[in-house]
Parts: sequence; C-alpha cells; structure tokens
Amino acid sequence: MENVEIARVLNEYANLLDIQGDSPFRVRAYRNAAQTVASLSQPVAQLIEAGEDLQQLPGIGSSMAEHLQEIVETGTLSRLEEVRRALPSTLTELMQLEHLGPKKARQLHDALGITSVSELAAAIDAGKVEALPGFGKKSAANLRHAIDAFERRSRRFLLADADQFVRPLLRHLRQAPGIVELEVAGSYRRRQETVGDIDILAVCEDPHPVMQHFQAYREVDRIEMAGPTRGTVILRSGLQVDLRIVPRRSYGAALHYFIGSKAHNVAVRQLGVERGLRINEYGIFRVPKGKKADDLGTEEGERIGGEREEDVFRAVGLVWIPPELREDRGEIQAAQEGRLPHLITLDDIRGDLQMHSTWSDGAHTIEEMARACQERGYEYCAITDHSQSTRVAGGLDAERFRKQWEEIEEIRQRLDGIVLLKGVELDILPDGSLALPDDMLEQFDIVLIAVHSQLDMPRARMTRRVLKALSHPAVDILAHPTGRQIRKRAPVDIDLEEVFHAAKECDVALELDAQPERLDLNDVHLHRARELGVKVAIDSDAHSIEHLRFMSYGIDQARRGWLERQQVVNTLPWPKFRRCLGRRRA
Ligand SMILES: [Zn+2]
Repeated sequence: MENVEIARVLNEYANLLDIQGDSPFRVRAYRNAAQTVASLSQPVAQLIEAGEDLQQLPGIGSSMAEHLQEIVETGTLSRLEEVRRALPSTLTELMQLEHLGPKKARQLHDALGITSVSELAAAIDAGKVEALPGFGKKSAANLRHAIDAFERRSRRFLLADADQFVRPLLRHLRQAPGIVELEVAGSYRRRQETVGDIDILAVCEDPHPVMQHFQAYREVDRIEMAGPTRGTVILRSGLQVDLRIVPRRSYGAALHYFIGSKAHNVAVRQLGVERGLRINEYGIFRVPKGKKADDLGTEEGERIGGEREEDVFRAVGLVWIPPELREDRGEIQAAQEGRLPHLITLDDIRGDLQMHSTWSDGAHTIEEMARACQERGYEYCAITDHSQSTRVAGGLDAERFRKQWEEIEEIRQRLDGIVLLKGVELDILPDGSLALPDDMLEQFDIVLIAVHSQLDMPRARMTRRVLKALSHPAVDILAHPTGRQIRKRAPVDIDLEEVFHAAKECDVALELDAQPERLDLNDVHLHRARELGVKVAIDSDAHSIEHLRFMSYGIDQARRGWLERQQVVNTLPWPKFRRCLGRRRA
C-alpha cells in the first residue's frame, strides 16, 4: 500500500470526525499523521516490515503507530468503517469546497440529505440551499463558485491545455538553484490525449531550496503537501503538480516507474523477476541467492543500475522504448524481436492538408495561411474550406469556389517555394453522395470528405454512407473519421474495420485530425490502420495561423499509434505527393 493511500484513509477519517463535531485535537492528530505519511520518502509498509519504530516519525504516537499498522495490513481502519456507517464517506468531498466547513457540511446532510458535491450543486440550483438557516443567497452563490472550481480541479486536462501550464512551470523550475536533471513523467510524458496530475522528477544538489523555489511559483494556488523531497501544489488552473526529488543513482529507475503506464511497468518488472532481478523506483537490484524479493528493503541487493532509464530496459534485455509506446500493447515483444517502429517525428511532415481561410470559418486569408505554412518549412499546403451544405457557417457553393480558385491562382503568382493546393472539405450527404457535382470535384487539387450532419445515424447506415463516399474516384482523404470531440461529442457509430478495408481498397487516406480536442483517429485506431496498411494524413485542421502548431499533437497521437513516416502521406516530398494526388484522376 502506497503512502498516499494511507494518507487518504487518515484524512477521510479526520474529515468525518470533523463533520461529526469530534474534538479538534483528535481531528488534528489524524491530519498531522496524514501529512507526515504523505511526505515520507520511504513507504510506511517497508518501515513496518523492517521493524522500524514508527513513533520516531513526527506526529506519530503509539496509538497512531498502531493505526498505521492496521491500515497497511487491512487497507483501512476499523474505526473509519464504523463512522462510515453513520455518515457517507462521499460527504468528505464537500469539505474540499471553499467556504464549506464541517458544521455546514453536516447541516446540508441532515437538512437536505446531501452526500456529494453533485447533489449539492443540484440543491443550490433548485434554490433549496439559500433557504436554509445560516446560508442565504450570497453564501449559496459562493458555494456554486466553489463547486465550479472543484470540478475544474477534478477533471482531466486536454494535453494541449496542460502544455500551456506545464511549459512555463518547467522554465521556472529549471532556474531553481542546483538543478541537475528535470523531466515530466506520467501520462503527460506518454503524450496521452488527456492528462490528470503532472508528475515531475528532479535531481539536484540540495532539495530544500528547490522545493522552496517550486512552492514560490507565481501560479501556485495552494500547497497541498510540502515534504523534504516531495511537494504537491495546485496551480491556479486547477492542475495538480507533484515534484519528487530523487537521488541521481535512482533517477532513471524513478523516471521509468513514474512514466508508466502501470501495465507496461508490471510487464517489465515481471521480466526482471525471471532474471532474478528486482526493479523498483529506486533502481535495479540482483536478488541475493536464497532470498525472496518481497523480503528485501527498498535498496537491498546488488545494485546493477538505475541512474539512466536505459539501465532498466538493458537489465531485462530490451532497448529503450519510447514513452508513447509504453501501454503494454505489444511494445515489449516488439523490442525483444528488434522490430520497434521508427516513430514519425514533426520534422518528417512536408505539408498540411486541412486548413480553413476567411472564405469559410477561418480567421486568416489564404495567403496568410500559405505563408505561415511556408514559415513552418512545409513544401505544400491545402486550403480546404467547407462546402455549402455543411452546417458550418459560410460554406462555399460552386460559384464561390470558382471565385476562390481565381484568388488562389493569383496568390500562386506571388508565392515562391510552397505549393498551394485548391482543396475542399466536402460534406458526405446522408445517402453517401457528395455535396458538389463531379465536374466540380475534378477541378480541385485535393478533396477531403467528412460527415458533418445526421451524426446519430445507426451503425449500418452510417457505415454504408461513408463506404459509398469513399468509393468516389475524386476523393483523397476521409477527414476526422469518427467525428468525436473529446469530452464534448461521442464518436459516430460506424464499423471502422470496414472503413479501413474500404479505404485501403480505394486508396484513400484516413485523416488524423490533430486538433487537440479531436485527435481523430485516435491511437488505438491508428495502430490498427497501420496493421492493415491503410495510409494516414496528419492535418492540423487549422482555423487560424496559430492552429497550425496543432500538427505536433497529431504527431504525438501518431507516435502512440506506432506510425512511421511511410504510413503518412504528407511526409512525402512534393514531387512524390503530387503523383499520389494525380493517380486516380489520370
Ligand atoms: Zn470538419
């Protein structure tokens, strides 16, 4: 059992005692103990195992030491279970709200039967809370704000949003005195599309000034925990950040441990066990003959590595595996067989094939978009404004497209060194036909198709609809194939396996739309597309110059999907890509 979990039990008990109106001294004793446990660098379970005297720890007396023992052995505290019978444990959630102390939490529970933050929100919205004695309109409104803040904190962040908070924090931390190494671990490092808490690992000369520097960061809203080598803060954005300072000898092992994923780590540790090794966050150790790994202290046995992440992999006969692959989706076997993919990088991208201009719902002119693409070093870019029947504002009809082509021709005269393609993001109509006539479609350089209406169609019909559209000879790319928007809109119900096969047969590329809230196709789909040999186009779907940088999130997701340069059409240099566009119209 991890220290954080032990601390959670103690904190929950303290909160419930508090709500019950128990003695403030008892409540504080449990809170202090939780604080002590959370900031320990060594697991309590190991201290107990090693027969250490827990009463040496600050704020731990003899009965608290017994409680710790009980939690480690049973996973909980019998007295906590007792209190839980009288008060629901979700009630302690209320105490994480600003302006809400234990007395009021109790009052809300007794008067209105409220047991959770969501129930409280509903009661406030129904006007029940302001009517309670001692509350009133103003404090009900304050609570509503506190709930919004709580929900912001507890949700996961889009990776791109987290980046905006993490990058400046890292710049700040790099200026801490005596920093030797600094890196973010966790799902952020694996570039997962959404991330929860941020885990940062550091090596430094002296932990104390580094922790001080961390806590003094101007965006820190509050300090949750401040141990000697571990600190937790909540940023004003609601993002929780943990900083762990580890010894240099353990840095690589800790990095591997905290990057995860859990499933990947379990598999690697198992390989270690088969070799008589123990791999943990402190290093890699040879288990002494006649001893069991479970009986050893954290750093017992001959240390054979841990300073670098490669040490962990080498110890179990593997090459270093990129973090984006560490999901236990076959990466370990691939590493064993020497067939890890050569993952695509941002530098491989030669062009961007979906973007919008002021002709439809974009913020910048065609020329501005093209020049911005050139600045990014692209060889080509496609302007793909929406066709008219779409529900997106300002879609173009045939006549407007002809006007747009005139402008594109004009801009081409002025551009040098980048190819500007006449493209379209064309609606797939409910019956699978396309929203512009064939004689029009032939005149585009590149045609993207997408479903934008009747998204709730049943699976069989939706699949038929898209398959029919794919078979049209003018089509180059199926854009954002599932239509999902992370946390906003569910994917359409469609048989992707059939779509993959059809796309391959029709030689149509499937898009990885790199908008951070789309990332569509996702990592798992991309992995499957790769297996089937389906081509992929990674597009920013930019609606402004600033959005062109979304390409990097597409690359992150592509790497998670094992994609290599060869699977991605817009890594082709222009002369090759041009042939690939011309192939079906010829
Ligand atoms: Zn679209």
